[in-house]
Amino acid sequence: MNLKDYIANVPDFPKEGIQFKDITPLIGDGKAFKYATELFVDFAKKVNADIIVGPDARGFIFGCPVATTLEIGFVPVRKPNKLPRETISYSYDLEYGSNTLCLHKGDIKKGQRVLIVDDLLATGGTIEAAIHLIEESGGIVAGTAFLVELTDLKGRDKLKGHEILTLMRF
Ligand code: AMP
Repeated sequence: MNLKDYIANVPDFPKEGIQFKDITPLIGDGKAFKYATELFVDFAKKVNADIIVGPDARGFIFGCPVATTLEIGFVPVRKPNKLPRETISYSYDLEYGSNTLCLHKGDIKKGQRVLIVDDLLATGGTIEAAIHLIEESGGIVAGTAFLVELTDLKGRDKLKGHEILTLMRF
């Protein structure tokens, strides 16, 4: 199965000059979604993940089925004012705009091996923020996994020393 067949390119969304990679055709197809999940699950096993972290919001879509398949937990990293308990936060720049991400204090336990799953690696700002929050919590980033990598944006350069899985590169 060629997963690229399930990614729609939307030019100039949400701003002129951005080639938006729409993953909704992929999750709308049960077989393609299952296949992508299986590849993430194999990687989670390879890196011995104890827990899955997914960044708001598309990281939830891809991270949760990996966690339930392996019967391990899922922890959300969210935008500000969404998590109800005490949080730690980290701010970063996006390909378009800027963002802050938050993690509940205590959701990641010291020494836990974490696999971060997200839809897309662009500049790497989001994953860098998630790594920062996990490490501040005492967790070990066992790996990072993405459906799509936009190679021109060199997000990979921010992940030196980390295991990386990307299912598609554009
Ligand atoms: P970044 O922090 O730059 O690596 O971008 C992270 C997030 O922004 C991704 O997980 C996507 O949800 C979203 N994003 C950035 N660029 C694009 C794009 N060209 N198409 C679709 N989503 C994008």
